[in-house]
Amino acid sequence: MQNKILLPEDRIPKYWYNVIPDMPGPLAPVIHPGTMQPVKPEDLLPIFPMPLIEQEVSQQRWIEIPEPVREIFRIWRPSPLFRAHRLEKALGTPAKIYYKYEGVSPAGSHKPNSAVPQAYFNKISGTKRIATETGAGQWGCSIALACQMFGLECTVYMVKVSFAQKPYRKSMMQLWGANVIPSPSDQTNAGRAMLAKDPENGGSLGLAISEAVEDAVSREDTRYALGSVLNHVCLHQTIIGLEAKEQMAIAGDYPDVVIGCHGGGSNFAGIGFPFVADKANGKQVRVLAVEPASCPTLTRGVYAFDYGDTAKMAPVAKMYTLGHDFMPPGIHAGGLRYHGASPLVSQLLAAGVIEAKAVHQLACFDAAVLFSRTEGIIPAPESSHAIRGAIDEALQAKEEGKEKTILFNLSGHGHVDMTAYDDFFAGKLTDYEYPTEAIKESLSQLPKVD
Ligand SMILES: *Cc1c(COP(=O)(O)O)cnc(C)c1O
Repeated sequence: MQNKILLPEDRIPKYWYNVIPDMPGPLAPVIHPGTMQPVKPEDLLPIFPMPLIEQEVSQQRWIEIPEPVREIFRIWRPSPLFRAHRLEKALGTPAKIYYKYEGVSPAGSHKPNSAVPQAYFNKISGTKRIATETGAGQWGCSIALACQMFGLECTVYMVKVSFAQKPYRKSMMQLWGANVIPSPSDQTNAGRAMLAKDPENGGSLGLAISEAVEDAVSREDTRYALGSVLNHVCLHQTIIGLEAKEQMAIAGDYPDVVIGCHGGGSNFAGIGFPFVADKANGKQVRVLAVEPASCPTLTRGVYAFDYGDTAKMAPVAKMYTLGHDFMPPGIHAGGLRYHGASPLVSQLLAAGVIEAKAVHQLACFDAAVLFSRTEGIIPAPESSHAIRGAIDEALQAKEEGKEKTILFNLSGHGHVDMTAYDDFFAGKLTDYEYPTEAIKESLSQLPKVD
């Protein structure tokens, strides 16, 4: 009974897969938030280095992974693919369940897959320092690690409530050499304005983004980095699906359905886009994104132009959105609380190439507990949404008495999220369905783009 499928180190992919040439139709333009005109690549130079801007719009299907990036990937890649025999047995399902495990990275999630190349392309472009934001701390840890590897300075604006509530992620960032600043801070105009208005403000992801962008554009030696949503981040994450495809072939299997949890779309794109490529070539495979019912961007949002952040400083993109004013409730899957989605994932969903569903928090924790007790690995609360999706597919196969091959991405481990499990066992968690009226209200604030 083969349980774990490994690839040798020399099989780390040499190319990322770029889905843009296989998209159903041209990409919508990205709009400048000030002028409301399409953004030109050079408009982005104060924020990102040229190689990443080029990747953002590249029509090349395969983009080379630089050797210094592969060298660092060797610390944890290729990541393992598991067959979940014990979970299958516990469910009594005829379905086969496979999962790709990204929690083996030093930071404990898939995010270093993009942090490392982002740091590398900044380094070779002359950047000395990266400014970024982090909510729960997973992206901050990943970029701190990556900057350390390439000798870049790193400043992370961390949402103030998380700074207090997630001390271990803050410690990890500091251990990897980052300067961690609670946001709102007195270091930027955006932060100072908020503190003048409300000295006790606990911060938000939108405000932390505004502080990091302001920091980056105000210093010649500094650029900004984002951990999800953007095309180049989705591109970097395709290493997950490319490896998984090879590992599935070793197992002699091909998935009927490929599943990823969805926050901004990067790990879902990572596992899913290489299979979207197969679909474009006529293969039968479903690709399914699973999001929280409390932040139902793909299933209850609209496909429209919207700002990337609350402060309306980030570019306006066409995507599924709940409105940039949308305030998701404080659920434990902190990494899935974004009002928008990757424009690539959004366009594929609008065209019917991929599917999406929303699941409730308690059902996800039930799934995470069953998974921990059968497979052993403690999942991140974000990843538990993919597990819920996979279990529901397996239970449906059981009901229909049909065989089915399921592949999902286990995006990270939950070792730094044990408070969430404590709260679940103490009965402190509840399900939350966002009221239709509130969604309507925030959707009424969308910008007008011709
Ligand atoms: C950040 C994060 C996510 C959500 O982000 P995506 O860009 O949607 O992948 C999911 N899982 C883990 C473990 C994360 O850290």
